Amino acid sequence: MSQKNKLQVEAIFQGTVIDHIPAKVAIKLLRIFKLLRTTERVTIGLNLPSNQQNKKDLIKLENVFLNEDQANQLSIYAPLATVNRIKNYIVISKQKLKLPKIINGVLSCPNENCISRCELKSSDFFVRFKINKIYLQCKYCERDFEHKIVIFNNI
Ligand SMILES: [Zn+2]
Repeated sequence: MSQKNKLQVEAIFQGTVIDHIPAKVAIKLLRIFKLLRTTERVTIGLNLPSNQQNKKDLIKLENVFLNEDQANQLSIYAPLATVNRIKNYIVISKQKLKLPKIINGVLSCPNENCISRCELKSSDFFVRFKINKIYLQCKYCERDFEHKIVIFNNI
Protein backbone atom coordinates (compact mmCIF):
# COMPACT_ATOMS: atom_id res chain seq x y z
CA MET A 1 0.00 0.00 0.00
CA SER A 2 1.45 3.39 -0.92
CA GLN A 3 1.93 6.12 1.62
CA LYS A 4 -0.87 8.07 -0.01
CA ASN A 5 -3.34 5.22 0.43
CA LYS A 6 -2.27 4.68 4.02
CA LEU A 7 -3.12 8.23 4.90
CA GLN A 8 -6.40 7.99 3.09
CA VAL A 9 -7.62 5.02 5.11
CA GLU A 10 -5.76 5.60 8.36
CA ALA A 11 -6.45 2.65 10.62
CA ILE A 12 -8.85 2.80 13.51
CA PHE A 13 -8.61 0.53 16.52
CA GLN A 14 -12.19 -0.63 16.35
CA GLY A 15 -15.39 0.44 14.70
CA THR A 16 -16.84 0.73 11.24
CA VAL A 17 -15.44 2.06 7.99
CA ILE A 18 -17.98 2.75 5.25
CA ASP A 19 -15.99 2.80 2.03
CA HIS A 20 -16.82 3.37 -1.65
CA ILE A 21 -19.59 5.84 -0.95
CA PRO A 22 -20.31 7.89 -4.08
CA ALA A 23 -18.75 11.36 -3.88
CA LYS A 24 -21.11 13.93 -2.33
CA VAL A 25 -23.17 11.26 -0.59
CA ALA A 26 -21.34 10.83 2.75
CA ILE A 27 -22.85 13.95 4.27
CA LYS A 28 -26.34 12.75 3.31
CA LEU A 29 -25.71 9.37 4.91
CA LEU A 30 -24.51 11.01 8.12
CA ARG A 31 -27.61 13.16 8.29
CA ILE A 32 -30.32 10.80 7.09
CA PHE A 33 -29.09 7.76 9.00
CA LYS A 34 -28.25 9.87 12.07
CA LEU A 35 -24.70 8.55 12.20
CA LEU A 36 -23.55 11.62 14.10
CA ARG A 37 -25.64 10.73 17.13
CA THR A 38 -22.50 9.54 18.84
CA THR A 39 -19.83 11.11 20.97
CA GLU A 40 -17.23 8.81 19.41
CA ARG A 41 -14.72 10.04 16.88
CA VAL A 42 -16.09 10.26 13.33
CA THR A 43 -13.74 10.88 10.41
CA ILE A 44 -15.07 11.79 7.01
CA GLY A 45 -13.18 11.74 3.72
CA LEU A 46 -14.77 13.56 0.81
CA ASN A 47 -13.88 13.37 -2.89
CA LEU A 48 -11.08 10.87 -2.31
CA PRO A 49 -9.44 9.27 -5.34
CA SER A 50 -10.86 5.83 -6.13
CA ASN A 51 -10.02 3.09 -8.59
CA GLN A 52 -13.58 1.87 -8.99
CA GLN A 53 -15.29 5.22 -9.10
CA ASN A 54 -13.73 8.54 -10.07
CA LYS A 55 -14.13 9.95 -6.62
CA LYS A 56 -15.48 8.49 -3.46
CA ASP A 57 -16.42 9.45 0.06
CA LEU A 58 -15.54 7.48 3.16
CA ILE A 59 -16.82 7.49 6.75
CA LYS A 60 -15.00 6.08 9.77
CA LEU A 61 -16.94 5.57 12.96
CA GLU A 62 -14.77 4.65 15.91
CA ASN A 63 -16.28 2.26 18.46
CA VAL A 64 -19.54 2.18 16.51
CA PHE A 65 -20.75 -1.03 14.87
CA LEU A 66 -23.58 -1.13 12.37
CA ASN A 67 -25.41 -4.43 12.17
CA GLU A 68 -26.09 -6.02 8.78
CA ASP A 69 -29.59 -4.56 8.47
CA GLN A 70 -28.46 -1.06 9.39
CA ALA A 71 -25.67 -1.33 6.83
CA ASN A 72 -27.98 -2.58 4.09
CA GLN A 73 -30.23 0.43 4.53
CA LEU A 74 -27.35 2.61 3.33
CA SER A 75 -27.57 0.90 -0.07
CA ILE A 76 -30.52 3.07 -1.09
CA TYR A 77 -28.03 5.97 -1.33
CA ALA A 78 -24.76 4.10 -1.76
CA PRO A 79 -25.37 0.76 -3.50
CA LEU A 80 -21.66 0.04 -4.08
CA ALA A 81 -20.49 0.92 -0.60
CA THR A 82 -18.72 -1.63 1.57
CA VAL A 83 -19.06 -1.70 5.33
CA ASN A 84 -15.89 -2.88 7.08
CA ARG A 85 -15.96 -3.83 10.72
CA ILE A 86 -12.64 -3.36 12.49
CA LYS A 87 -11.35 -4.87 15.72
CA ASN A 88 -7.77 -4.49 16.94
CA TYR A 89 -6.91 -2.71 13.69
CA ILE A 90 -7.97 -5.79 11.70
CA VAL A 91 -10.90 -5.95 9.28
CA ILE A 92 -13.06 -8.71 10.75
CA SER A 93 -15.82 -8.44 8.18
CA LYS A 94 -16.33 -6.72 4.89
CA GLN A 95 -19.98 -6.43 3.92
CA LYS A 96 -21.14 -5.63 0.41
CA LEU A 97 -24.54 -4.06 0.65
CA LYS A 98 -27.81 -5.61 -0.45
CA LEU A 99 -31.07 -3.76 -0.81
CA PRO A 100 -33.06 -4.30 2.38
CA LYS A 101 -36.65 -5.58 2.29
CA ILE A 102 -37.75 -2.76 4.53
CA ILE A 103 -36.43 0.68 5.41
CA ASN A 104 -37.46 1.78 8.83
CA GLY A 105 -37.45 5.13 10.49
CA VAL A 106 -35.19 7.17 8.23
CA LEU A 107 -37.14 8.35 5.17
CA SER A 108 -40.24 10.50 5.24
CA CYS A 109 -43.17 9.72 2.93
CA PRO A 110 -43.55 12.05 -0.09
CA ASN A 111 -47.36 11.92 0.32
CA GLU A 112 -48.18 15.07 2.28
CA ASN A 113 -51.42 13.58 3.56
CA CYS A 114 -49.76 10.44 4.84
CA ILE A 115 -50.41 9.73 8.50
CA SER A 116 -46.72 8.93 9.00
CA ARG A 117 -45.99 12.64 8.45
CA CYS A 118 -48.46 14.14 10.89
CA GLU A 119 -48.05 11.77 13.79
CA LEU A 120 -44.86 10.85 15.52
CA LYS A 121 -44.69 7.52 13.82
CA SER A 122 -41.47 6.17 12.46
CA SER A 123 -41.82 5.64 8.72
CA ASP A 124 -41.67 2.23 7.13
CA PHE A 125 -41.12 1.49 3.47
CA PHE A 126 -41.22 -1.88 1.75
CA VAL A 127 -38.57 -2.16 -0.94
CA ARG A 128 -39.59 -3.80 -4.23
CA PHE A 129 -38.13 -4.32 -7.66
CA LYS A 130 -40.38 -3.75 -10.64
CA ILE A 131 -39.04 -3.73 -14.18
CA ASN A 132 -35.47 -2.97 -13.08
CA LYS A 133 -36.52 -0.06 -10.95
CA ILE A 134 -36.60 0.13 -7.20
CA TYR A 135 -39.89 1.15 -5.65
CA LEU A 136 -40.59 2.02 -2.07
CA GLN A 137 -44.06 1.41 -0.73
CA CYS A 138 -45.14 3.31 2.35
CA LYS A 139 -46.57 1.01 4.99
CA TYR A 140 -49.07 3.65 6.13
CA CYS A 141 -50.60 5.17 2.98
CA GLU A 142 -49.63 2.12 0.90
CA ARG A 143 -48.54 4.33 -1.99
CA ASP A 144 -45.73 3.16 -4.20
CA PHE A 145 -42.97 5.61 -5.07
CA GLU A 146 -40.03 5.20 -7.35
CA HIS A 147 -37.12 5.22 -4.91
CA LYS A 148 -35.59 8.34 -6.49
CA ILE A 149 -38.71 10.31 -5.57
CA VAL A 150 -38.42 9.28 -1.94
CA ILE A 151 -34.70 10.02 -1.93
CA PHE A 152 -35.20 13.42 -3.56
CA ASN A 153 -37.78 14.16 -0.87
CA ASN A 154 -35.18 13.31 1.79
CA ILE A 155 -32.10 15.22 0.67
ZN1 LIG B 1 -47.11 7.32 3.25
